[in-house]
Amino acid sequence: SYYSKAKFFTSAPDIKHLDDDTGVEIAFAGRSNAGKSSALNTLTRQKNLARTSKTPGRTQLINVFELEGDRRLVDLPGYGYAKVPLAMKEKWQRSLGEYLQKRKSLKGLVVLMDIRHPFKDLDQDLIHWAVSADLPVLALMTKSDKLKAGKRKAQLLMAREAAMAFCGDVTVQTFSALNRQGLPEFEAILNKWFGI
Ligand code: GDP
Repeated sequence: SYYSKAKFFTSAPDIKHLDDDTGVEIAFAGRSNAGKSSALNTLTRQKNLARTSKTPGRTQLINVFELEGDRRLVDLPGYGYAKVPLAMKEKWQRSLGEYLQKRKSLKGLVVLMDIRHPFKDLDQDLIHWAVSADLPVLALMTKSDKLKAGKRKAQLLMAREAAMAFCGDVTVQTFSALNRQGLPEFEAILNKWFGI
């Protein structure tokens, strides 16, 4: 797969320290523990590319992974962790909003959410900012293996209805890092955004 050639490129303490705004990048965001690292590792067929969080909320770095052809995957810090000080949360939200609005190379945002708890408040805030910046969003409902087929389908339909309320380009798919359910659909959307 194209994505298996991903390589760690850099870490940045905040969005201001990201490198040149050239090429194409896709950002990944989600509540701590949503399964973001696992999804990135599954996508890239690498066990430890993105470090799965043993201490939720601890890693506040942005990690950038490089792909061929000046394309990048940008792993944003997980949010929603109660112990992060409020001032830090607010600072982060401001810079995140700015990133979504101003970053020219950014062509899509993947918001990862546990299929059992989709569209929490912070997920919704993030999607609203992305939509208002005309950025396409993939709401990836992770850990789909946790539900039986019938319940999974019901959650997907419900989430797709909820997604329509954003009045933007918001796609909803289910995904499992455990059994790779939804991986082809996930890749197809990234390919489209990357122009592959
Ligand atoms: P992050 O904090 O968003 O990066 O989440 P992680 O990728 O570290 O995953 C958080 C927890 O959920 C870990 O215990 C993972 O093993 C588990 N997890 C992640 N993806 C899946 C999945 O697709 N299925 C199941 N059953 N568990 C998962």
